[in-house]
Amino acid sequence: MIDFEELIKGGLRTFPGLKKIEELKKVLVVQPHADDADVGIGGTIAKLADNGCEIIYLTLTDDRCGTSDLSMLPEELVKIRMQEQEEAAKVLGVKEIIWLGYHDSELYPSLELREKIIRVIREKKPEAIFTVDPWLMYEAHPDHRTTGIMATEAFMFSGLPNVNRKHLEEGLEPYAAEYIAFFVTSKPNTYVDITNYLDKKLEAVRKHKSQFEYAWSFFESYIKYQGRRYGKQINSQYAEAFKVMPGIFLHYNVDASEL
Ligand SMILES: [Zn+2]
Repeated sequence: MIDFEELIKGGLRTFPGLKKIEELKKVLVVQPHADDADVGIGGTIAKLADNGCEIIYLTLTDDRCGTSDLSMLPEELVKIRMQEQEEAAKVLGVKEIIWLGYHDSELYPSLELREKIIRVIREKKPEAIFTVDPWLMYEAHPDHRTTGIMATEAFMFSGLPNVNRKHLEEGLEPYAAEYIAFFVTSKPNTYVDITNYLDKKLEAVRKHKSQFEYAWSFFESYIKYQGRRYGKQINSQYAEAFKVMPGIFLHYNVDASEL
């Protein structure tokens, strides 16, 4: 039994049986666009892959809008972005990439989208789900808000047999991951030392040429700055930050934001 008072006092580290991020053996990363995971948590991804963790990227949109080049047609950019993500994933050791192909900049919550994410969770059975924090203040991009909220709902409901019950007829089983871990979060409660993986992260991010090559030195220094900032929290040179949330905190819980 969880002693709630102890848990609130002691914080996440006192949650019984919670696996450390570094101990995970299978992770589903739900991202709005190709590159979001690589930029946010590429070091952690590389570290986990090195530890033998199976990592699956589920990318919800097709990235057709990520350009200011008038001559770049959407279909052409979609192909380039997919190729860049494949190359970056190879650098980090990601085994599988699933694309849902929703139009970039037009992702809004729907039961259809939620069902697709629940289906992937039930098929792949990850121990944890990583996604962008939908409660990030001032996040103006609908794809990011929607990805975070849909992935969280899918995490919450994938273990309940009467949610998308037709999956059972197809041979899938209800399945609940242990926790969800948000990145690009302003309320981190967990840090992963990526000092030995920063170079790999930078190499992977740089594979997204269409997004970063025009101002690489700026992006490189920004990524390093963030890494140092989080590193200070755990006395390491570089780190990445997550807000890890077990399901019990994701509904009707006024203490969730402070966990
Ligand atoms: Zn994005």
